[in-house]
Order: sequence, then C-alpha cells, then structure tokens
Amino acid sequence: MGYAEVSVYSPVAQRRTFSYAIPPGLSIDVGQAVWVPFGDKLLQGIVLELTHFPSVEETREIAGIIEPYPVLSPAHIALARWLSQHYLSPLFDAVALMLPPGFERKVITFITTPPTSSEQDMPSLTQRQRKVLDLVRRQGKVNLRQLDKALGTRQVRLVISQLIGHGLLTKSYELEKVKVKPKKVSYLCLAITASEAQQEAAKLPSKQASLVNFLSHLTQPVSPSEARKRVNCSASVVKAVISKGLAELQQVEVKREPISYQSITPSYPLTLTSAQKKACESIKSGLLQVAKSYAPSAVFLLHGVTGSGKTEVYLQTLAEAVKLGKRSIVLVPEIALTPQTIERFASRFPHKVAVLHSKLSLGEQFDEWQRIRNGEFDVVIGSRSAIFAPQPDLGLIIIDEEHEWTYKQHDKSPRYHTRDVAIKLAELTGAVVILGSATPDVETFYHAQRGGYHLLQLPERVTPREGSPLPQVEVVDLRDELKAGNRSLFSRSLSQSITKAVANREQVILFLNRRGGASFIQCRNCGFILRCKRCDVTLTYHIAEGVLVCHQCNYRMPVPNTCPRCLSRRIKFLGIGTQKLEQETSYAFSSARLLRWDSDITRQKHSHQEILNKFRAHNADILIGTQMIAKGLDLPLVTLVGIVSADTGLNLPDFRAGERTFQLLSQVAGRAGRGTLGGKVIIQTYSPKHYAIQAAARNDYNSFYNQEIAFRRQLHNPPFTRLACLVYSHTNDVLCQKEAERMKRLLIEEINSRGIDDLSLIGPAPAFIHKLRGRFRWQLILRGSEPSALLSQIPIPHGWTVDIDPVGLT
Ligand code: ADP
Ligand code: ZN
Ligand code: ZN
Repeated sequence: MGYAEVSVYSPVAQRRTFSYAIPPGLSIDVGQAVWVPFGDKLLQGIVLELTHFPSVEETREIAGIIEPYPVLSPAHIALARWLSQHYLSPLFDAVALMLPPGFERKVITFITTPPTSSEQDMPSLTQRQRKVLDLVRRQGKVNLRQLDKALGTRQVRLVISQLIGHGLLTKSYELEKVKVKPKKVSYLCLAITASEAQQEAAKLPSKQASLVNFLSHLTQPVSPSEARKRVNCSASVVKAVISKGLAELQQVEVKREPISYQSITPSYPLTLTSAQKKACESIKSGLLQVAKSYAPSAVFLLHGVTGSGKTEVYLQTLAEAVKLGKRSIVLVPEIALTPQTIERFASRFPHKVAVLHSKLSLGEQFDEWQRIRNGEFDVVIGSRSAIFAPQPDLGLIIIDEEHEWTYKQHDKSPRYHTRDVAIKLAELTGAVVILGSATPDVETFYHAQRGGYHLLQLPERVTPREGSPLPQVEVVDLRDELKAGNRSLFSRSLSQSITKAVANREQVILFLNRRGGASFIQCRNCGFILRCKRCDVTLTYHIAEGVLVCHQCNYRMPVPNTCPRCLSRRIKFLGIGTQKLEQETSYAFSSARLLRWDSDITRQKHSHQEILNKFRAHNADILIGTQMIAKGLDLPLVTLVGIVSADTGLNLPDFRAGERTFQLLSQVAGRAGRGTLGGKVIIQTYSPKHYAIQAAARNDYNSFYNQEIAFRRQLHNPPFTRLACLVYSHTNDVLCQKEAERMKRLLIEEINSRGIDDLSLIGPAPAFIHKLRGRFRWQLILRGSEPSALLSQIPIPHGWTVDIDPVGLT
C-alpha cells in the first residue's frame, strides 16, 4: 500500500503535510488535488509527495480525487515548499497561490434523519430537541448553517449532537458549489437540414417563416437574442420554432478573453541602439546557455534610464525565447498594467499573450489559467501573482520596475517578494530572469556589483530628437523662500515656470508625495526635523496625544515649542494634501485648467484611464497627483514637473526612506521632456543637500548608490543583514504592548540559550500603522544574518504575523 503526503486546506495544518493511505484502486499522482478526512471534516488537499511509509503510525485514507490530472507541477510543488519555509507561511497558503482560480472550496455540513429512525422509538425529548428534529424531518436535509440561523440559538449545536447521540439525526458533508465554470453560451440553429427548412417555412406563420429562413442561410452561429434582433421577432416566435422541432439551442463553450485584438496592429522589431544590442546579445547568450543546460539559471539586471528602450530589449529577448521553444512570464507593477502596456506586447506576439491580474473577473482568470496551462501562450503578462502562472516550458521571466515595493505581498501570507520567488522559480525550472529598472533596488544593485547578477546598462534615452538629454532639474531651497517673505506653496521659480508653461499651451504636472504625509514635524525656518537619538529615524507626530514617537524603539517626547536648532517658533509645520494643493493652485493660477489624480478619485475601475485620457487630450493644463503619476506615462506636452515637497518621503521612519525618495523623484522627473519640447523639473525641499535629492537632481544613480550602501553597511541594514518584522495585534493597546514585551523576552532567551551572537532585537514599538481596523499593533524587529532560522523553530503564538524581509512600514 502506498502513502501520500498531503498539504491540507485547513488553518491548523500550518507548515506541514499529513500522511494519508492511498486506498486500493485509486491512482494518485504527485500534484493531484484530493479530498481528505481531517478531524471530523472532509477537506481539500494537494498531494506533494508519494511515499512507501507514512510519517505517522495511524493514517486515514484519501477520500477521493477532485481533478483527474495533477494541478501542480513538480517545480511548483518545490516552489510552494520553499515559500512556506522561507517566509514561514502555512504550506497550503503557498500551494494556493498556484492553484486554478476559484479552486478553494468549503465543505458544507448537512443534517439529515437516518432512514431507520421512527416516531415510536423516540425517547422523551426536550422542547428544543423536538423543534430541531421536526424541522429536519420536514425538510429531509438541512444545511447546518441554516439551522443555526433558523433557530437563532447557540444551543443548536449542542441539541444536534444530543440528537445524533440518540441516533435520531446524522451528519453528512458536501462541497460548496464550484465558483467558476467555463463560460457557455447558447446558440440558435436549425434542427433540420436547410432544404427541409425551406419547405417547412412555407407552411408557417410569417414571423416564424422568416426566422427559419434566416437560420437556414447562416454561416456563423448566432445567439437567440441576436436572431430575434435580425428577424425582428419576439421570444415566443423562437419558442414556437423550437417546439415544432425546426430549430434548437446548442450550448457552446466560449473563452473569456481579456485582450481585444481588434484594435491592435502587429508591430515589428526595431533596429536596436548599440547599448540595446549589447544587452540583447548578453541575454540571448544567457538563454542559450541555460537552454543547453550549461548553466542552471541566470539573472540579469537591466539598468536603463526612463525612455532608454528597455521594453524593446524585453520584446526581442522574448522572441529569442520563443525561437528556443521556451515560454515566458512578464511582470509589471499593477498600476503600469494599462491597455497600452499590454498592447505593446500583444502587438509583437499577436494572439500569443495572456493577461493575468486581480481585476479580471474570476471567470476570465479561470479561462486564462486553463489556456496558459495548455501551452497556448508564449507570453503571460501580469502583476505580482502572475509569477505563479502555470506556464509550461518556462524559459524567461521579466520583472519590469523591479524596485517597486508592490512586488512584495505584505498584507497576507505568504509575505513573499516576487523578485525572490522569480529567481527561485528560475533555478527550479532552468530559466533566465531579467530585472529591469531605471532606479534598481539597492539590494539588487549590490548583488549585481558583487557578480551574482549580470549588470547590463542603457545609459541614454532613445528620443525623437537625436541625443536629447534628460530634463534639466532645479532644486529650490524652501528656507530661502520663507526668508524672502514667500509663504505660498509655490517657490518663486516654480510659480514663474508654471505661468510660462501654461501661457505657451504646454502642460504641467504637480507632484505631491502623500504617503505618510502630515505625520512628522519640521522647522519651517531651518528645515530641522526631530529624530530618535537611538535609531536615527524621524519621530512621528501623534496628533491625538500631542507627542512625538519613535516607531522603532518607542522613545517618546512632547512637541517642543521652539526649534532645537535655530530657536524659531515655526516648528509645527505639517505636510499638505492634494486637495489643499488643488485649492492653492487654482487660486494662484486662476486661468489654468486643473485635474486632480489621487486614490480618492480613482476608486472605480476605469477612472485612471479616463483621467489620463483627459489630460493627454489637453483638456487640462495642470495635473495634480500623488505616486500614481510617477509610473510609465508618456505625455509629450508635459514640459514642467513640479515636486511640491520632496521632504515627505524623506522623513518616513524607515531606513529605506532615502532610497524611496530617490526612486520616486527620478521617476517623476522622467515624466518631463518626453516629447520634442524638452522639459524641466523643479524640486522644492527644506533639505536641498540631502544625497537622495542631490543624486535625483543630477540623475546620478551611482552616487546615490554609493552613499546609500555606505549607510546600510554602517547601520547594519539590508543587504548586510536580514530583517524579520513581527507584528502583534489586539483590540487592547496595553495587552498588545505586554504581549510584545513578553515575546521579546522569549526571543532573547532563545537567542541566548542557542548562543546565537549575530541576532539583535529592535523594539517593541507601536507599528507605523498603530491602529488598523479596530486593532492596535505593536512590532518587534529581529535583525541578523538569518532571523528566519530562529523563528522557524519557535511556535509563533496566535495573533502574531511574521514578515521575513519586510520592505516597507507596516
Ligand atoms: P523604457 O522602457 O526604458 O522607459 P521605452 O521602451 O518605453 O523605454 O522606450 C522609449 C521610446 O523609445 C518608446 O517610444 C520606444 O518605442 C522607443 N524606442 C525604443 N527602442 C528604440 C529603437 N531601437 N529605435 C527607435 N525607437 C526606439
Ligand atoms: Zn529650525
Ligand atoms: Zn528609536
């Protein structure tokens, strides 16, 4: 008898598999979806391994097969195991990432009366028991949930178990309905031959006759409603023709296709610039080496300034992978997954591109998933989760804008980083990875410098005008503005430039970094910002309590009345929001037409596109926006980008604040001067000497990197260490803090008793988002060379979440 190790869809299964016996006559494969008994339930599971011996003495049998064919490949199984170990996540959470959309189903419990029970042998029952029994007898079979509702009492479970004890009721299990099925439509067609139809038509009333005639001349199937429209008849006419046996409805399966190719014309490879050519050649030889198994896998970092033609490199290397008989996955940040982006790929590989992202309907996702698995596409393009697409013969994985923090899944388990998953998957499948960015993640660049990744560079823009430079950048010191008596949000320089651009009928973007806005305090006179002396991160202002808090070590201090550096009383200056900026802009530039773009405005599905189209069509002169406008927009009429305050991002209590600011400023600056008109960027700041701002202004990644990596080394931050962030949440703030302190003591004991000397603990402190959905949150940070090695050996109590390699503030 054989055994299977099964990953079970249950919250208590955690990071392990369970042994089940394979009953005689059932043929089971690795990767197959099965039903297994678990406690008193029947649950879904995936077979991860077949063995000759069970890992426990007592095993139960697999109850049945859900799908005849394996749903996971061996590479995906290995990837799921790695995800669970590396990110300390429940195994099934990792497995679930790779299952067909809509796969997970609950088991529904039903209560029935056993066939043998009768009125006579009923013992004396309480009123409650009788009520439940009557209800079940009347209906025959009742969903347990409904019973709970119908009786509105918590006792119902107790009563039922009593009745089951008496042998008067039994439990049975069924599965929730499948959430998605292939979409079917019905077509109306003749049930007889066309010549028979012609004869029959003569005997029919005129409407029915014309419908039959219409159907007998069809070359393509039509839906009943289409047929009615074309013949101009009512539903009863269709019914009559069907009931006379002249026509019938046929169910045909149709695919839900997210790409509409009607408006897409094929595109052809461009003649590459010499830098592009060099990059393509390197990647192509990497593909060939991996395809011939001379190398297990390879990672390339394509570092190219915005507009340097990275996409063309992607397209031509994708074509090379196709030539080698390989398929690919292309990942872009969710926000960049616009119809234009998809079109660039779809036009080069017509009908060979699949799209996967969370905004597709479940049905669309299901269809795309099935077709991908059948090997119908050369390229799958999507956001984060598309890395788990069942693309066979995987040869190339491209991650565009690899530095984007949205590639990290931070809100649910497994808290994975797509880049690390892609690199692991490439190792498992023998594929090549391209990481593309204008501002690579410092950690990625570090690996490229050290030779782990191959570094490829595209230092110049491919522009309409030969040799057109990147936009000119001016840094304005806001302290000087105040000294000159200018208290508005616009420096004199920005104000003049806006007026000039609008007068020339050009367009302006005003950018506001709103993330974490208004949460720190700055002296408006000298730009001084209060920092934690121990942690060197910005203190966060808690308005309700009127205190400044360090979100790493919980140091607290009252807000001072005067600036500790220059003694000015203008210390309580807070950031501004987009609405306020819009107001002030309309006031200062009354003749300009404004458009605001932020997350408040774009809650609906299409409005990103609508706002963008409106701006592109020059229906507005000034676009005011947040992070969103920084991404991949090509707006030729924009000649001026104003960064209203560069300091907001700089002062987040996060060691990556400098990196984020550099990335963001570089990207926003990249929006200017995309057309033939050239462009200018104005950065307003109280810290004009800050290295991130200086480097962004000079578009100098290397000098930014050198400074940043030096700080990382000095302060023992990644990539020189690794972090694990532990967050505890509870409705009671005091209990929450206590539990965090208890956990800290426990961890210190473990560290000491194991003699680990390179792990340190930071905190506990309130998490940056201290209260979320009614629960308080406290965090502990574990820092060292392998924090997960320790954590994987300690049971993590309920209420805690662990984020390995966190990338932002939580
Ligand atoms: P990136 O992705 O690096 O920001 P893009 O791929 O968007 O840059 O390229 C910028 C522009 O240059 C696009 O309009 C693209 O069509 C064009 N382009 C790229 N490569 C070439 C080339 N070799 N010859 C002509 N135009 C090119
Ligand atoms: Zn000051
Ligand atoms: Zn501190």
